[in-house]
Amino acid sequence: MAKVTDICNDVYRLTPAMRGMLQELIRLCRIEELNVYVFETYRTPQRQAWLYANGRSKLKTAGMHGKGLAVDIVFKDAKGRWSWDEKKFNYRRVAEISKSIGLTPGYYWPRFHDGAHHQLGR
Ligand SMILES: [Zn+2]
Repeated sequence: MAKVTDICNDVYRLTPAMRGMLQELIRLCRIEELNVYVFETYRTPQRQAWLYANGRSKLKTAGMHGKGLAVDIVFKDAKGRWSWDEKKFNYRRVAEISKSIGLTPGYYWPRFHDGAHHQLGR
């Protein structure tokens, strides 16, 4: 059984529409040499509750990740390690591209800024 700390990055747990948007977003990022990768796609209600309890998510219930309508994409550094460091990596540009194709990037959320998060719908 999946533990709350297990992270699912299977793009086939996304809706077909969200998966298509993600592929387009990654494609456009690659053109600009933005080295982002899929970090997390689908989230179980148990994992969402755990993230909420630990202050890592503003949502108590599964939200968009639980519906297959959200993805977190994260940069990797030269050594292949995940990095959420917005001073080192251009999360702003990824958010601009995301917005331009019709996704909603968490980068612009004033109350719970989430530079890695992109979702289909508001
Ligand atoms: Zn997210």
